[in-house]
Amino acid sequence: MKSKISRRSVLLQSLQLPLAGAVFVALPGCGQKAATTSAGAGGAVCADLSAMSEAEQGTRKSLEYTEAGPNPSQVCAGCSFFHPGPTAGGCGTCDMFSGGPVNSHGHCNSWSAKS
Ligand code: SF4
Repeated sequence: MKSKISRRSVLLQSLQLPLAGAVFVALPGCGQKAATTSAGAGGAVCADLSAMSEAEQGTRKSLEYTEAGPNPSQVCAGCSFFHPGPTAGGCGTCDMFSGGPVNSHGHCNSWSAKS
């Protein structure tokens, strides 16, 4: 018995595996970016990682900075390294990130209560 495989089916099958691999690789990155650039509780996105250098992104990632802190009692607005911006409750800057932008509702592992 002779089976005939068309060129079309061979071509389609050869495209499916790389496409599935690309989706598999891209999905974890989607979740990470959303977690670090999603709006804080105030609705503002202050730190756009895509506009920062690799060094700046690395510092933020190593300190696990997020725009919306999980604990309302330990957000950037109450941290000794935070400097508020011109609009109350919005974006400010942080000494830990060389004066880079942070969300007043954000958080990182270097949080230290204002004295
Ligand atoms: S050190 Fe962390 S918690 Fe404190 S202001 Fe900077 S980013 Fe926010």
